[in-house]
Amino acid sequence: MTPYPHLFEPLDLGFTQIRNRVLMGSMHTGLEELPEGMGRLAAFYAERARGGVGLMVTGGIAPNAVGAKLARDAVLADNDQVAQHRLVTESVHDNGSKILMQILHTGRYSFQPECVAPSPIKSPITPHMPSEMSVADIESTIEDFAVCASLARDSGYDGVEIMGSEGYLLNEFTVEHTNQRRDDWGGSYENRIRFPLEILRRIRQRVGDDFILMYRQSMLDLVEDGSTWDEVVQLAKAVEATGVNILNTGIGWHEARIPTIAQMVPRAAWTWVTAKIREHVDIPVVTTNRINTPAMAEEILTRGDADMISMARPLLADSHFVAKAAEGINTCIACNQACLDFIFTGQVCSCLVNPRACHETELQYQAVDSARQIAVVGSGPAGLSCATVAAGRGHQVALYDAAPAIGGQLNLARQVPGKDEFNETIRYFNQQIERTGLELKLNHRVTAQELVDGDYDHIILATGVTPRALEFEGIDHPKVASYVDILEGRVTAGPSVAIIGAGGIGFDVAEFLLHETPEEMEIGEFMAYWGVDIEVDRPGGLEDEDKSRRPAREVYLLQRKATKHGTTLGKTTGWIHRSMLQRADVSMLADVTYERIDDDGLHITVSGDPRTLEVDTVVICAGQEPLRELQEDLLAAGKSVDLIGGADVAAELDARRAIDQGARLAAAL
Ligand code: FAD
Ligand code: NAP
Ligand code: SF4
Repeated sequence: MTPYPHLFEPLDLGFTQIRNRVLMGSMHTGLEELPEGMGRLAAFYAERARGGVGLMVTGGIAPNAVGAKLARDAVLADNDQVAQHRLVTESVHDNGSKILMQILHTGRYSFQPECVAPSPIKSPITPHMPSEMSVADIESTIEDFAVCASLARDSGYDGVEIMGSEGYLLNEFTVEHTNQRRDDWGGSYENRIRFPLEILRRIRQRVGDDFILMYRQSMLDLVEDGSTWDEVVQLAKAVEATGVNILNTGIGWHEARIPTIAQMVPRAAWTWVTAKIREHVDIPVVTTNRINTPAMAEEILTRGDADMISMARPLLADSHFVAKAAEGINTCIACNQACLDFIFTGQVCSCLVNPRACHETELQYQAVDSARQIAVVGSGPAGLSCATVAAGRGHQVALYDAAPAIGGQLNLARQVPGKDEFNETIRYFNQQIERTGLELKLNHRVTAQELVDGDYDHIILATGVTPRALEFEGIDHPKVASYVDILEGRVTAGPSVAIIGAGGIGFDVAEFLLHETPEEMEIGEFMAYWGVDIEVDRPGGLEDEDKSRRPAREVYLLQRKATKHGTTLGKTTGWIHRSMLQRADVSMLADVTYERIDDDGLHITVSGDPRTLEVDTVVICAGQEPLRELQEDLLAAGKSVDLIGGADVAAELDARRAIDQGARLAAAL
């Protein structure tokens, strides 16, 4: 008997059945627009279909040119494109799954100068003032949606998802925040929701009844002048009446200043919203956001919060999430580093914990014909990735680490409040070590001689990094500690602290020091902290933020650069880290020169002005240098070595690069 009976229960829509309750939510991968992209996309979806997903939704495809985010983005508006889409639908159907095409008109969130919206109100996150749509534009756009849905049907899709949330065009019509029209398409709520409802009716007329129609509704806008709860319920009922088969949940507009899916958001934080709407409609409802394990999905379904669970990033992290549910999955840690951050910087999407995601055709872990003897030194993410992929392919691998446990610096990262998902990555690597049967030698600071004596075919150094040593007066003062001392608990910082270095680790150490204990926020506490009204009594679900959390320490975060703090943090998460430190009154000083440390504190100049920070502790977070002490002796003994992760290049190193590099080397051995 499966431990996840609700998750594995088929969903009967009458004219068709979905094999389980897992929906792979819409993700733009960046492959859509590449010359050979549809073939790669077909391989991406095929692998997830083989992995057991019940229903998938493609990344957003625009119904017309002006609806695309960028001029080069995918549009489905005529027959010529149907053959390319068939590559995707056939690959999914051949592997037993079903797929919907998402139709997305980005409205004022388009980056094109010609962008359109219900009213000429510029968005805070895109560059151009939209043109107000004329009544003729509205009519032609409704028709474009219907044509697009009909072409999706011709392409072999099992249905379409109509994107009505996240602040895109349909959502822009529904709220006064962006719709200030006074004609039949604005003003009263009936008028504001007319546009999405007309689109749904027209599509249903065009495609017939045996085609899945899913609507993604914004249940919580999280912007000023957003919908009230009564309006959300009214729209959901009206959507159901148009013949929609499944109602999907959207939480928060892209411009909202409340995190909805990042790592510090508690798991399953938003299912209460779906549970509230489920009371008002009879069609199946889907819940979403920060659900990343089968157990969590099962719990939500058992509780009755939803009929189906949408997960997008977790299916990047593990294409076989469903098939491996019982044995243990590779868990999405909600870092956004290789998925959303890549997409928002124009790169092909991938995944920090699974470098094969969206690279299925080019990065393959083929079984080997003849096993080689391989030594991997260092069980940080680089070494773990390399050792487990190589052993999984059939090589004989010995993995050495001087530490008593695997994980390397991930063991420091997971001490930081909001980063405990790194525990999952370590759990999964432990599982892979056991599954592949590689030989793990912990508490073993390996020497070059041992490696030479071991007569390995390949020696791979994944020995990581060492904190950069600084040199200025007083750097040996007892007030000074490294981030390693602090995060490993060897040194407890005093009530006031200066942090030298404001990179990713400086920000994390600041967050760590603001807490007495590094506990994660509960859902209720999270909603209060960010100002989410869980009764949704107020428009958009916003209320005043709870400012009662007091920081455990006074913290200064210093950098030599004169630029804004946090520019090297993740594109989609940096603002959250900055905002949390600002709310805890962290003093962020830039253009700093470090003069000396003594009993009075840290002496600096800020833009040339001398200043003394009377702090109890000075924590050094000034970057790292590669640690590759074994390399020289091994080369001298005539051995060739491969360097990966921090041992290779320490600058701008992160776990994503470490894991990717380890996996790519192992795939080539
Ligand atoms: P390491 O993780 O440093 O591992 C090296 C390993 O080699 C260690 O286990 C060490 O014990 C072992 N070793 C060294 N010498 C020997 C020897 N002679 N014999 C045996 N074993 C040896 N990255 C992200 O992508 N996202 C984040 O959110 C993030 N947050 C972070 C937060 C903090 C507080 C810190 C400190 C780091 C964070 N990082 C993050 C960075 C990430 O952890 C590192 O980039 C990554 O761990 C580097 O991997 P690595 O395998 O190269 O080296
Ligand atoms: P980092 O991002 O390179 O930051 C180092 C900081 O130290 C910078 O603020 C730098 O700023 C300062 N610095 C450098 N040399 C210095 C010197 N000689 N004297 C004084 N200050 C100096 O490195 P990190 O913070 O150690 O992080 C390491 C890696 O881990 C990063 O590349 C990051 O990608 C990864 N990481 C990622 C996350 C994440 O959330 N994605 C979190 C933590 C870590 P100035 O030169 O302006 O002083
Ligand atoms: Fe999840 Fe991070 Fe992978 Fe994105 S990159 S899918 S957030 S683990």
